[in-house]
Amino acid sequence: MKSVQDNCGVFGIYSNFACVQDIYGGIDFLQHRGQEYCGIATFDGIIHQITHYGKVGNTFTDAELRLLTGTMGIGHVSLWERQPVMWQSRLGEISVAFSGNIINASELIEEMKSRGHAFYRSQNIEVIAKIIIEAGDIISGICDLSQKVVGAYSLVVLTKEGIYATRDVYGFRPFILGKDARRYAVSSESRALQNLEMDIVRDVRPGEIVLINERGFQTQKQLDSPRRAHCAFEWAYTASIDSIIDGLFVQEARNNLGQSLAQRDMEEGGLEADIVAPVPMSGIGHALGYHKRSQITYQDVFLYNRYADRSYTQSSQQARERMAKRKLSVLRYAVENKKIVLCDDSIVRGTQILHKVRDLKKAGAKEVHVRIACPPLMYPCDFGVSTRSYGELAARQYFKSGDITSLSQLQELEAWMATQIDADSVKYNSIDQFVSALGIPRGDLCLKCWDGVRPIM
Ligand code: SF4
Repeated sequence: MKSVQDNCGVFGIYSNFACVQDIYGGIDFLQHRGQEYCGIATFDGIIHQITHYGKVGNTFTDAELRLLTGTMGIGHVSLWERQPVMWQSRLGEISVAFSGNIINASELIEEMKSRGHAFYRSQNIEVIAKIIIEAGDIISGICDLSQKVVGAYSLVVLTKEGIYATRDVYGFRPFILGKDARRYAVSSESRALQNLEMDIVRDVRPGEIVLINERGFQTQKQLDSPRRAHCAFEWAYTASIDSIIDGLFVQEARNNLGQSLAQRDMEEGGLEADIVAPVPMSGIGHALGYHKRSQITYQDVFLYNRYADRSYTQSSQQARERMAKRKLSVLRYAVENKKIVLCDDSIVRGTQILHKVRDLKKAGAKEVHVRIACPPLMYPCDFGVSTRSYGELAARQYFKSGDITSLSQLQELEAWMATQIDADSVKYNSIDQFVSALGIPRGDLCLKCWDGVRPIM
């Protein structure tokens, strides 16, 4: 089995009042992390659970929400699979949801099958739930997970005692706690908590097991963390710009990455341009940073279709291309006869940026210089972001070895990429520039999609 690669968001809450509207709102604010499936489970003595194919706002009816009674519950949005998943087990009823990816799922499934376990669809979530249930109690189960599972997970388990929330010992995916006078919650991103008017408390620590119930947040256990490996791509692309992850605002990170690109242009002789513009939405922070450092006028050149989904989190190439076309339309008035610096987060397959450069030129742009916040993507992600093979990574088509070890190699790739996407020039941040712009120690980050180093020991 090819391991599932997933983009998803997780939410859990204990409230003094009915919680379903807060879960609905919470996962709606995480919708950017996956748009194919959504689900909610609540507890009022028994677990009630409903999952859907589709987005939160389009699928749950008022009648369904009325069925989801109780004061605590969990929710999930996903690109690949329906969650939460409910189990009748010797631990009682539990419902489980997670964000991440289990790299050794196939091996674990085979080993468990050999001991008599049956699997419905061989999904990651089944592996997780069965390891927990087999251990006999939730905390031992989560400890076993950390021993057996190779991969990334931010996980919630809804039980009669409360919601157990944990993050793998490397802290790959974000997970943050928030509260107010009557509610305690955990979320993949802080924006869900902020928009539900809760105060941010702190990040769940890598390897921490927190129980959330009427007594608030209680750390049940702190597992040893050999090192941190926060996904660096979260700050550049995946997370929403209004979130804060492990102490760093996403907006600040993107501004710094944009400034770093401008700094490089200035050091390499300067770039004469009329305007700097983003590829919305995730290019906005980068373009603002570029503008701040270069003092080139910031100007939107695309109108964002708010009814389209993110092209990167679509589940097939065809869907991504369809979506990329629907997503942005050119503001011709802003573009005609202009030399444009166009900022984006990354070039994965090159689908979107190629269309956008051509669209700008068709609309009369004199020059389009593409500036990319992330270093060239050379390796697929194993830990939960939907790049699945080397063949899907445009930069890898040119640099077959994957390793860029000098500025001249980076420049060589940039010149080739410019020809591929019809741009007048392309520049990326190098890995060193990227890390320095984030301001997080390199050893605390996962940079595997750029340097190929899998941080798991
Ligand atoms: S491989 Fe890339 S996308 Fe995946 S967790 Fe590491 S940095 Fe994030």
